[in-house]
Parts: sequence; C-alpha cells; structure tokens
Amino acid sequence: MSVTVRVVVLGPPGAGKGTQAMFLKERFGACHISTGDMLRKAVNDQSPLGIKAMQYMEKGKLVSDNLILELMGEHLSQENCKYGFVLDGFPRTRPQALGLEKLLRNLGLQLDRVVFLNIPRDAIIRRLAGRRTCEKCGTLYHLVFDPSSKEGVCDRCHGVLYQRSDDTEDTIAARYDVYKTQTAPFMIDYYRKGGLLQEIDGMGNPDEVKGRVFQALGLDVA
Ligand code: AMP
Repeated sequence: MSVTVRVVVLGPPGAGKGTQAMFLKERFGACHISTGDMLRKAVNDQSPLGIKAMQYMEKGKLVSDNLILELMGEHLSQENCKYGFVLDGFPRTRPQALGLEKLLRNLGLQLDRVVFLNIPRDAIIRRLAGRRTCEKCGTLYHLVFDPSSKEGVCDRCHGVLYQRSDDTEDTIAARYDVYKTQTAPFMIDYYRKGGLLQEIDGMGNPDEVKGRVFQALGLDVA
C-alpha cells in the first residue's frame, strides 16, 4: 500500500528542516520543495528572481510574499506533487500560509500535518556555524555533529561541500530575529488551532529526530 504525505516542516533556522524533509522525501518519494534552495539556485543562475531575492537573503530578511507564492504555485502544480510533498521553509508568514491554502484548494489537495521542529537559540548558532551542504545533491553535514567521511567531500555523490553565505554569525542572528518576529507568532498558533501542528523536540542527532518525526506522523522508521 502506498502512503502519501503532505507535510509542512516548520521551525527556526538550523532546526533541521532540510534534513528531516530529505528523510521524508527519500522514504515516500514525495516532492521536496525548499524555497531557500530554489532561491539559492535562482541567485546562482543570476535569474531576474535571483537578482531580486539576493539583497534580502544576504541580510537574512524575507523575500516578498508575492514572489514566494508565485514560485510555489509553479512547483506545487507539478504532476509529481500530487502524490505527496514536503514543504521546507514555506510558509513563513500569514499571507504565505493563506496563499498555500488557496493553492491547495485549487489543486483539490489538503495538508496532513505541520511538523514543528523546536530547538533553543544557542543550539541554532552552534549548528549553523558548522553546517556544510553538498553543492551537487544538497545533502547536509555538520563539521562536528555529522561530518562527511572525507573532509569537504559528499559521502553520497562525491560533490564538493560548501558553507552557505548566510551562515555567518551576524546573518544567523538576523534570520533568528525574523523567525521570532515574523514567522513563529502567527504560524505556530494558526496550525495549532487548525489541529495540524505536531511539535517535535529538534535536539539530538538527525536519526534521533527522524525517529520522533516518523513516530509523530504515525509512520514506520524502517
Ligand atoms: P532557508 O534556506 O529556508 O533558511 O532560506 C534562506 C533565505 O531565503 C531566507 O533567509 C530568506 O531570505 C529566503 N527565504 C526562503 N524561504 C522563504 C520564504 N518562504 N519567504 C520569504 N523568504 C524566504
């Protein structure tokens, strides 16, 4: 029997949203939509969207809701997203959450659950400062907590690992502030009231957190 997941992964920067979204994608073949990854690609490609987004991203500020909703509209309507999706880093504001509802309604789809990964501020700084990403396949590592076998090289695809330009101490602090003032106050309440919120302790190694996420979603870890 095939299982479909339609999930939002919510949490502060560095909570492990990308890592857990990857686990869910691998297990269920769901489409993984990370607005941050899409924007970074647009910046790399120097597309009109990337040029607009870059000035916000490098300061740790949010890109405009309209741009984000346009991007999501294009991606969510892709054929493979009908069979499940994991949204990572979206929605982040009230207009985005309401916009997502409208997009899903138009597609005849519904959210199953919102996984809220909660970690304290000091852990965020430790995690993000050591985070490294594979430039080829997007796999995430940490220099101390989850290193690759060979320094600077991805275990999965041998791609080069890089540090995100917004993972510096100043920008991390700005991103956390944005999360605390613009994302958390509305989103947590909204999805809690809607009965969708599943709060998970995001501390521990990626596999421990994966166990909690899968259990909360009523899924086998194997
Ligand atoms: P992330 O990879 O999710 O940490 O996102 C990196 C940066 O991309 C953020 O600091 C924002 O500047 C921008 N960004 C990503 N997702 C969104 C979103 N849903 N709304 C607005 N800006 C976003």
